[in-house]
Amino acid sequence: RLAPSAALVASVSQGAQQQELYDTRALQKLDSAHYMHPFTDHQELAAKGARVMVRGEGIYLWDSEGKKILDGMSGLWCVNVGYGRTSISEAVYRQMETLPFYNSFFNTTNVPAVRLAALLVELSPPQFNHVFFTGSGSEGNDTNLRMVRRYWELMGCPERQTIISRHNAYHGSTVAGSSLGGMGGMHAQGGLPVPGIVHIGQPNYVEAGRGMTEDQFGLAAAGWLEAKILELGADKVAAFIGEPVQGAGGVIIPPATYWPEIQRICDQYGVLLIADEVICGFGRLGAWFGSELMGIRPDLITFAKGVTSGYVPLGGVLVGDRVADVLIEKGGDFNHGFTYSGHPVACAAALENIRILLDERLVEQVAQSTGPYLKERFASLADHPLVGYADSCGFVAGLNLVRKKGAVVHDCEAFKPEQGVGMICRGYMFGNGMIMRAVGDRMIIAPPLVMTKAQIDEMIGKIRFCLDATLADLQ
Ligand code: PLP
Repeated sequence: RLAPSAALVASVSQGAQQQELYDTRALQKLDSAHYMHPFTDHQELAAKGARVMVRGEGIYLWDSEGKKILDGMSGLWCVNVGYGRTSISEAVYRQMETLPFYNSFFNTTNVPAVRLAALLVELSPPQFNHVFFTGSGSEGNDTNLRMVRRYWELMGCPERQTIISRHNAYHGSTVAGSSLGGMGGMHAQGGLPVPGIVHIGQPNYVEAGRGMTEDQFGLAAAGWLEAKILELGADKVAAFIGEPVQGAGGVIIPPATYWPEIQRICDQYGVLLIADEVICGFGRLGAWFGSELMGIRPDLITFAKGVTSGYVPLGGVLVGDRVADVLIEKGGDFNHGFTYSGHPVACAAALENIRILLDERLVEQVAQSTGPYLKERFASLADHPLVGYADSCGFVAGLNLVRKKGAVVHDCEAFKPEQGVGMICRGYMFGNGMIMRAVGDRMIIAPPLVMTKAQIDEMIGKIRFCLDATLADLQ
């Protein structure tokens, strides 16, 4: 172990030069020998070999075999402005040459962080005048947990500690993030959730709304929050957290009545409202923030992903006046922060990314033009024999694969989970140059916001082709 082998040095320098030709097998072998991936079964990975991504341009990726892939998931819900934006790499390069790093602890700051904070305040709803930066969305939600508890201590209500979240929510992978989230698979590993976090049902009409209209169900699902607050005692509840549209849980789009009723309940009981906009922010739903679309006034907004389009890691919390004023006026030191809070390079990337979103009017485009077009084209997939229902909001969409269609969504007959139909379909997508994610038998997309109408047509064509292949496979 004194020196790396010549072959390893050669493969590393090949990566550094970004050559077009890669030895896929050798990379896969090194990958499975040494790289522990997030959310991955490593025995399966070793058997199949990882797909090695090497390049991106616009909405397309290329793998190490030279295969072109349409990225229907924007990387991981984040590459909002698409791949290959040289102006972002140039902004990053310039910042690295000028000041690659300095921290924001102990009364120091840096120029990109100041400018970005001011710009985010400008873009966000009026109750926001402060920003706390983190390195990721998970750290943003950890920050939320600490901030809301500190807020209630300073308000003289230290017993208001409990945060209410929802089953099947995703709020990150740190201990607080995964506890705030409601993913059973995550809670089953390592004694989660930590105390002081409880979960109510998600507003999933298809799963739980039988016998009700969507509007009736929205009110009923919001009522679960009120019931939980009354069960715990309002004087014990610090905050409610939710994604405007649940992303990783399977693109669960709530009925229109849901969020306004949640807001009413939070107001009535004085409970803080946290909108986790790690996915929904920065144009994903056709608004700068999904909260605006849902008609709510959150006290805190978590952001990450789209703030830099994933080019460099950055996350944070928009801190509303209700919380910020108390922390600032009464709080003294808030003993919380990260080495990379307000990282100048990440903030420079975010500034350029937001300039692109503004200059190219991408948020308006999703709201007024490509979003409605995607809605119409995606809905047309519902005529496919495998599709029970298909819905979308801005640039997120999902469809459910069903064994038998029904007259109403609740009458569709599901496949047996052990058939793994979603994974079969995902396999056909991958094999045919299309990235679409499977959450059980729900197939979801969140394409880059730069996707054109012609590219939407291309994507819908690929999805239909792969649905046909899946159907043929099952027969
Ligand atoms: N919150 C939501 C809604 C997310 O979708 C994610 C990531 O997918 C996170 C938080 C965690 O963000 P990160 O992976 O940057 O920690």
